[in-house]
Amino acid sequence: MQLGKLRLSGFKSFVEPATLSIEPGLTGVVGPNGCGKSNLLEAIRWVMGENSPKSMRSGGMEDVIFAGTATRPPRDFAEVVLSGTRSDGDELEVMRRIERGAGSAYRLNGRDVRAKDVALIFADAATGAHSPALVSQGKIAQVIAAKPTERRQMLEEAAGIAGLHVRRRDAEAKLRQTEANLARLEDLMAGLD
Ligand code: ATP
Repeated sequence: MQLGKLRLSGFKSFVEPATLSIEPGLTGVVGPNGCGKSNLLEAIRWVMGENSPKSMRSGGMEDVIFAGTATRPPRDFAEVVLSGTRSDGDELEVMRRIERGAGSAYRLNGRDVRAKDVALIFADAATGAHSPALVSQGKIAQVIAAKPTERRQMLEEAAGIAGLHVRRRDAEAKLRQTEANLARLEDLMAGLD
């Protein structure tokens, strides 16, 4: 998937609406300390479905909402929109919005979707919140120190098969449910004899 534009509003230090173009190839973000470089990468991860406050350097998910400064009041919501082109040429626009006290919601090309739908789209496209394509500070050292199972997970993300594991878990749960239904049906039928 080729990522296109990233739009942020009220997300961490990006209080005013801001738009960034992500050009083909390698993109690096440079700037003085504290200017928001990591916040940008976190915005990409967040819109792709990241739900761990720790990996967003937050105490809770609402901490991604602009918290205010000495001169500006806090915001009530944060919104990130990521657009891109899939390998089949289809355009895609994913939006995630969080409101204080109301949790977060996703939209895919303008339609309400579940967090899981968004995660699967990015996993199938070999990208996503944990994609090795998003290289944050300390990531290289983390790759070097990773355990073999963690390295395997990174390779699976890069190969685009991470989504298959999610589908397998879903299919196994459905199979177990169907087997339980079948056993119950057999009990009922035995009772009719
Ligand atoms: P460094 O180069 O030091 O790693 P950086 O450019 O990666 O810095 P970030 O860590 O992305 O910078 O941004 C840090 C800034 O974001 C801090 O000034 C912090 O106060 C601000 N910030 C983080 N979360 C929020 C929030 N919810 N509301 C307002 N500002 C926030």
